[in-house]
Amino acid sequence: MAKKTTSSGKKTKHVYLFGKGKTDGNGSMKPLLGGKGAGLAEMCRIRLPVPPGFTITTEVCTYYYDHKRTYPSDLKAQMQAGLASIEMQTGKKFGDVRNPLLVSVRSGARDSMPGMMDTILNLGLNDQTVEALAKKTGNPRFAWDCYRRFVQMYGDVVLGVQKRPDEDHEPFETVIHALKHERYHKDIDDTKLTPADLKELVVRFKALVKDRAGKEFPGSPWDQLMGAVGAVFGSWMNDRAIVYRRKYNIPSEWGTAVNVQAMVYGNTGDRSGSGVAFTRNPANGAKEFYGEFLINAQGEDVVAGVRTPEPVAQLKNHMAKAYAELERIRQTLEKHFKDVQDFEFTIEDETVYMLQTRNGKRTAMAALKFSMDMFREKLIDWKTAVMRNPADQLDQLLAPVFDAAEAGKAKAIATGLPAGPGAASGQIYLNAERAVAAADRKEQVLLVRVETSPEDLRGMIAAEGILTARGGVSSHAALVARQMGKVCVCGASALEVDYQARTVRVDGKTYKEGDWLSIDGTAGKVFPGRLKTASSEIIAGLIEGDESAKKTEKFKSFQQLMKWCDDATRMSVRTNADTPEQTKNAIAFGAVGIGLCRTEHMFFEGDRIDAMREMILAETVEARKAALAKLLPYQRDDFAGIFRALNGYPATIRFLDPPLHEFLPHTSEQQKDLAKKLGISAERIHARVEQLHEFNPMLGFRGCRLGIDFPEISEMQARAVFEAAAIVQKEGLKVRPEIMIPLVGFKKELDLQLEVVHRVAREVQAEQKVKLSYMVGTMIEVPRGALTADEIAQSAEFFSFGTNDLTQTGLGMSRDDSGSFLPHYAELEIVKRNPFATIDTTGVGQLVEIAVKKGRGVKKELKLGICGEHGGDPSSIQFFEQVGLDYVSASPFRVPVARLAAAQAALSKDR
Ligand code: ADP
Ligand code: MG
Ligand code: MG
Repeated sequence: MAKKTTSSGKKTKHVYLFGKGKTDGNGSMKPLLGGKGAGLAEMCRIRLPVPPGFTITTEVCTYYYDHKRTYPSDLKAQMQAGLASIEMQTGKKFGDVRNPLLVSVRSGARDSMPGMMDTILNLGLNDQTVEALAKKTGNPRFAWDCYRRFVQMYGDVVLGVQKRPDEDHEPFETVIHALKHERYHKDIDDTKLTPADLKELVVRFKALVKDRAGKEFPGSPWDQLMGAVGAVFGSWMNDRAIVYRRKYNIPSEWGTAVNVQAMVYGNTGDRSGSGVAFTRNPANGAKEFYGEFLINAQGEDVVAGVRTPEPVAQLKNHMAKAYAELERIRQTLEKHFKDVQDFEFTIEDETVYMLQTRNGKRTAMAALKFSMDMFREKLIDWKTAVMRNPADQLDQLLAPVFDAAEAGKAKAIATGLPAGPGAASGQIYLNAERAVAAADRKEQVLLVRVETSPEDLRGMIAAEGILTARGGVSSHAALVARQMGKVCVCGASALEVDYQARTVRVDGKTYKEGDWLSIDGTAGKVFPGRLKTASSEIIAGLIEGDESAKKTEKFKSFQQLMKWCDDATRMSVRTNADTPEQTKNAIAFGAVGIGLCRTEHMFFEGDRIDAMREMILAETVEARKAALAKLLPYQRDDFAGIFRALNGYPATIRFLDPPLHEFLPHTSEQQKDLAKKLGISAERIHARVEQLHEFNPMLGFRGCRLGIDFPEISEMQARAVFEAAAIVQKEGLKVRPEIMIPLVGFKKELDLQLEVVHRVAREVQAEQKVKLSYMVGTMIEVPRGALTADEIAQSAEFFSFGTNDLTQTGLGMSRDDSGSFLPHYAELEIVKRNPFATIDTTGVGQLVEIAVKKGRGVKKELKLGICGEHGGDPSSIQFFEQVGLDYVSASPFRVPVARLAAAQAALSKDR
């Protein structure tokens, strides 16, 4: 990067001052100053007591890496000016042997980032300045305690004196331990060490550094400072930081800032201390001062856990004045930042200093309560309240919960992907049939499988929760879990599932069918035995009609949030549902229709699969029609049930889509069974299965290709839809079917299916003497369909983007096979995020945009929706808002998330 100059020709500003006098930065400058630096500057601006200091910008970090780890030539001068300003404000001098200034060196990226360099305190101490500090304060114990801490921190963090693989303890701690035992013959509290002890520790620490690092501990304060600054920048590229950035999608270009700040001392005695606090409770949202502190301690001690801190409310009893000041600061922070703050403070001889503030991380529960309370307190408006609830965390509110006390005591025996949030316990069963039987016996069931497949569906429905040893976020188990709101942990690879023996081995123990396990689908953990659970109040109120749940604050707040979402939203939210039950749930959650009804799911239930198989095995049109005739009443009943549940809302019904072989039995055992049932030979079944075998079923005989080859299938489905519509319409309800033809790439494909649908519609209307209103449209899910959307739109009344298949076909990447290479792709940052979870806006998104433009170019009023898994993903929803879709469709239990995300997308658009 070339050296930047401002328009006036002045040199780039690398160093931003903060303090009582002039403060250069402010809270909005996080990209340049990092989160910590911006927060310190903002606190200075509102006159909170902050020790003075300066921030070296993130641009210097970028420069450092672009220039072989060197600094801009004028950085030194600007840092010296910064130090001079601190000296002026404190009356102390860096390296001075009468009144030495000590500083802390603190890293600070935009957001706090584990893996970055630890803070160094008390920098500027050496054998001379320590004496000066002792004399000046009249407190040698304090001075040597500071020095001891400094050599230890600097040795560890900057000079790399750390635990070796063959060591059990940190080397500095080993030295302390040895000294305590030499002099006191036991472990004593660090605060009990005398000045002489501390002095000796410094000597031994330095010897340790010399031995391990091969050089003297730096005595010059300036060298110490430059060493620490270099270590902060260096830590931006350490492995831990890189891994963290990758995980959270933080670009390495952001860089970190460095903060250099005058020390204040929490370790001068019993009138001093250090602590961390939240302006409100971040776990449950209560409006109470929340936090902890330690008397006579420096900041690191509070988190390090050497001593147990006290709750912040106790501070009243130790230092009433300081507590009152902290209360005042708490109010000031909230009034100014208008959000809950997480802050760090130090008390030096009863004077409070602020060392950090930032928006506090919070649970979904707390976020909801904060947003409602702060709206009522007129700190924020309703739109801000909506934005304050993270959409991707909303699930937490819906999840059943483990009794907090019990879960705290339990030890996890395996971990996997948290695929379906919530808590579930049950007696384990390893196949669907036995799971269903157990559930019929009123047992609480946990279905445990290596992986699940559509055949396990009944078992999954019967189970409280689903646990698999293999499979990722887009595995069958995870998908079903989301659709049904089931608690699910998948890919818990420590499980050894033995179908033969009907046992699960894990953590050295063997669990038999009928034994209890518990899973936490929010954290991805597996526990032994039975932990107690309860429905969330929101589910209890909305779905189970529990009146007392409706009176809870959580329920009311949730409903208020959802109402605001409706006020803010442009897009509507539909649901992916295949049964009346799912439909009812989704509507209770606020869905305004079905965006995707997958008709084939209905064919797996009960005896239907037999009729379906008979249809597939049929060798003549007549035989096929006969089998289809058996399916018709089932399908008609299903649709009627769904139309009733919809109560006037529209339903997009997709015609048969998957490759036929998915419905056929594959083991010879199962084939023999079926042969017996249908009265045909097992050989014939085997032959047909072979015949239907495809090398790439995803790109094979599926989608509208089925209906084109076998129009009688589409005909039956159309008949089922229209007859059901006629029945329900006669009952006095409005019915709005929208028939959707899948996998269309050519206009002609759609036209052929349209002919069938319209003909059947005419027939049914004549037979039933009713007038039905319906639409026929298509899924856009192959690139050719998107690219020729202008042609297809001439025939289609609506498009629904099938982004699952559009991603597969657009990327040429099979979702079910991507597990073997996609994780590595993510590591290499070839893909920033899993494209099957969050839409690939630059690639697949372009196909969507093209289709939107071409489609609307032909038909201005063309209705556009999305029904892939992405319809429930907040960042994808943001994109769909931008391209102007009319609705998104999400699985029933994702509907609230989608409503919130859609509202936030609309709100952030007009901001
Ligand atoms: P982290 O990013 O890990 O929170 P910080 O830079 O905030 O690291 O430093 C950790 C702790 O060190 C702070 O909470 C604070 O208590 C203490 N600390 C940092 N700078 C100073 C300072 N100038 N004076 C006193 N204590 C400090
Ligand atoms: Mg901190
Ligand atoms: Mg599809």
